[in-house]
Order: sequence, then structure tokens, then C-alpha cells
Amino acid sequence: LQNNLDKLGGYLARFKETGVLNRIGGQDVPAASGKTFANHSPVDETYICDVAKSDGTDIDAAAQAAKAAFPAWRDMPATERKKILHKIADGIVARAEEIALCECWDTGQALRFMSKAALRGAENFRFFADKAPAARDGQHLPSPTLMNITTRTPIGPIGVITPWNTPFMLSTWKIAPALAAGCTVVHKPAEFSPITARILMEIAEEAGLPAGVWNLVNGFGEDAGKALTEHPDIKAIAFVGESKTGSMIMKQGADTLKRVHFELGGKNPVIVFDDADLDRALDAAIFMIYSLNGERCTSSSRLLVQSTIAGEFIEKLTARVNNIRVGHPLDPQTEVGPLIHKTHFSKVCSYFDIAKQDGATVAAGGVALDQPGYYVRPTLFTGARNDMRIAQEEIFGPVLTAIPFDTEEDALEIANGVQYGLTGYVWTQDITRALRFTNKLEAGMIWVNSENVRHLPTPFGGVKASGIGRDGGDWSFDFYMEQKHIGLAI
Ligand code: NAD
Repeated sequence: LQNNLDKLGGYLARFKETGVLNRIGGQDVPAASGKTFANHSPVDETYICDVAKSDGTDIDAAAQAAKAAFPAWRDMPATERKKILHKIADGIVARAEEIALCECWDTGQALRFMSKAALRGAENFRFFADKAPAARDGQHLPSPTLMNITTRTPIGPIGVITPWNTPFMLSTWKIAPALAAGCTVVHKPAEFSPITARILMEIAEEAGLPAGVWNLVNGFGEDAGKALTEHPDIKAIAFVGESKTGSMIMKQGADTLKRVHFELGGKNPVIVFDDADLDRALDAAIFMIYSLNGERCTSSSRLLVQSTIAGEFIEKLTARVNNIRVGHPLDPQTEVGPLIHKTHFSKVCSYFDIAKQDGATVAAGGVALDQPGYYVRPTLFTGARNDMRIAQEEIFGPVLTAIPFDTEEDALEIANGVQYGLTGYVWTQDITRALRFTNKLEAGMIWVNSENVRHLPTPFGGVKASGIGRDGGDWSFDFYMEQKHIGLAI
């Protein structure tokens, strides 16, 4: 731990001196208003640095820079863009330790998970770099009178708005395909975790990304974020965050007919049938809610367990949850670190009372740690019904709600009985049941007998209030590019 803290001190020193500035058109700039806000660590509530508090003026400057840089970036041979994106991946790998340590300090996420998230960011760049040369390929669809060809072109400058949970990885997940497609970018990272977005931007320019192709504007959602979604030169918004923010962005973007791509909230079920490999199911259920502090859109926050095995399964689960190590995120042994900020901490803690008031049982956790920082004990609610708030609302912390079910039909009704539909996890050895069940489960992504294992060529996204659009594979290019049809008379 001390070794990691010493290294972190070195990495953060420059931010303490300069703060986190915007980067527009290849220049470091403060907010035009001169305003800043203070960034604190959730670990012990200490001050980290100041951050530019931008508004519409800064967004306008960034959008102008992205617009000016667009034609040259669009027209650069894709093989050249591919080389630059691979160099960005190399730069991420070279600075992976710095990224991981800073992200843990800024967000409270445990180092054991964050070191992997930085490398996943590099993978995102490599994956889309390799796809760049074929991104514009179209089809030849001849008719008796016309040679019809289709082609794809990048849509233009893109606004990328990201949340505070795994902020580094999520930024790469949006920005890499946008750049590979030939779009330019204005990125507005989450106000609560600005540091790694700044490091990522530096890596990109050091890799040879031309000035203005990628611009970084810090600030709050209600001013900088809103202005980005309303700017006429920004052609599309790639957004990751809460469902209610997605709804606001859709309204804000209406006047400029903004194309939107939304990755939103979830209340994802893990469904365990009595014929499942129960040891594996238990491991996966624990991993999918208590890793990354439960601040993960794909977390399995509802455990639906068949009543024939519920008693034994929940008993084992309770013992495991009580043994999860909560602690300093830079301690390699830590499994759960502090929550991102005070308001979120209060929100998560409020569900401890809500659960009791609604008649559920707090089988594990249900308390905050009596120390500085936003720490809560990993929590398990049992005896819950699907109409309780703890079964319906996205708590977004290390909090699992267990609901027993009798039959497959009951499980399906409970699983689908929420406004969200991001992921689902089904545990059964009966393959016919798995196929029947997944066919009716309302979710964009489902894993059978597996936790969430991301394979980049597959589509990522949710249904219902969990999102609009898909990322991954060629689906990302569908969003960042326009299809064009050309018919030649013959
Ligand atoms: P949030 O919606 O509060 O904020 C996300 C971003 O939107 C921030 O950068 C914020 O400044 C900005 N923003 C806020 N109001 C805005 C406005 N009016 N206009 C433009 N921008 C605005 O979300 P959060 O609390 O930072 O993140 C947690 C949420 O993100 C959870 O709901 C989680 O499920 C979701 N999430 C979803 C996925 C997914 O892939 N589906 C992935 C990660 C996180």
C-alpha cells in the first residue's frame, strides 16, 4: 500500500500545481470564465486538485476546433489512422500503472480491478484501429437499370459524455471507434473523476493525433454537458450514464436533431435454477455485484434463486459476503473500496432503511464504515419481493437483493418486471430451458453459466430504459458513420 501511495504522490504532483485544464485545439486552456471546482478523493475526502469549470463558451471553442480538424482527419488514409490508434494503445500500456493508481484515488475503485481496466482501454484502441481500414466499405446492389453502391462516411464532430464509474475504460470505449471511423471528438468527462481522461488525451496527442481531433472540456453536466448536447456543430452524442440523464439529453438535443447513443442504467438479474453448478453460480453472483464496488452498469444487482435451493444458497452467500475485504483501494488485497462521492454514498445508505421499512431482511452489511471516506459494508437483502424499491431501483453500490422464485415462469416474470433491460445471467444445466428462458428475457446482453465476459466483436447495449443503440464490432460504426447510397444509370 505505501509503495502505491508513494507512486501516486508522484503522479498527482503536477495536477496539484496546474489543476486539470481543458485541452482545445492542442492547447491547454483554463475555462474561459476562469472558474474551477475542487476535486476530492472518496478515499479520505482530501483535496486532489482544481478542475476547469467550463460552460457553453468553452464547449463552443472545442466544437469549433473539432469542426476545423474534421476534414483532414476524415480524409487521412485509414491505414494512417490505424497506426496512430495503435500508438495510443501502446501509450496506454506504457502508462497503465499511472492510470490505474490515479483512477483508484479519483473514484475509490479497487486496484485489483482497475489495473485490468486500463489495459482493456488499450485493447479497445487496438480493436477499432484494426477495423478502421474497412469501416467505409459498402455494398454493391445492382438493379436492371442502375449500378447501386453504398458507402459509409463519418458523421462529423461527436460529443462524448462519460460517467465516473470506470471512467478511463468507458472513455476509450466511445472515443476509439469514433476516431477509427474518421470523426473528431469533444469529450466531457464526469466531474467526479476528471484525472484519467486528461492522461488519456495526453497519450493520444503524444501518439501523433493531430491537434483539434480530440478536445477535452471539463465541467458539470448542467452547463458544459448540456451545451455540448445543444451545439449545432456536434452531429451526435455518445452518452454513458443514468437513464434520467439520457432522457434530458434527448430533449436538449431535439432542436439540433442530434443522433444519440445511450448506455444507461440497469437492475440486472442473475437467475439460479436448482440444477445449476451452484459453486460456480455463487462465485459469479458475488463477482458480478461486489467487484468494482457494485458501481457497474452490468452488475447483477438482483439474485433470483429457485426456492428449492434458496436456503442453502443464501446461507453460503451470506458467509461469503461477510468475508469480503473492504479497504483502501490502493491496497492490492482490497475487494471493495469507497463509493465515488458523498451524495452517492448517502443514496446507497438510504436503501438500508428503505429495505427494512419495506419488510426485507438485511442478511449482511447494511452499514457504513465509521471512518473518513465513503465506505459501506457489502450488503445482502433477503426476503425481498419484486415490488420493493430495493428490487426496482438502481442502487449502484455493493448491494444485492435476493428474491426467491418457484417456477421458470415466475423467474421470467420477476426478471422482466423492472424498467431496465441491460444484462441477464442465467444458471442452469438444462440447455433447452436456457434457450427458452433467454428467448423471453428482456435484456440486451445475456450470459448463460458465465459471468459477464466481454468479447469486443459482439454487440453491447441495453433494451427498455437501459439504452439505445449498440457498441462493439461494426455496430459502433453504424452510429459514428452515415450510410450513403449512389445509383449510376447503366
Ligand atoms: P450521470 O447521468 O449522472 O452522469 C453522466 C455524465 O453525464 C456526466 O459526465 C455528467 O456530467 C453528464 N451530465 C449530467 N447531466 C447532464 C445534462 N443535462 N446534459 C449533458 N450531460 C449531463 O451518471 P453517473 O452517475 O455519472 O454514472 C452512473 C450511471 O451510469 C449509472 O446509472 C450506470 O448504470 C450508468 N452506466 C451505464 C453503462 C452502460 O454501458 N449501460 C456503463 C456505465 C455506467
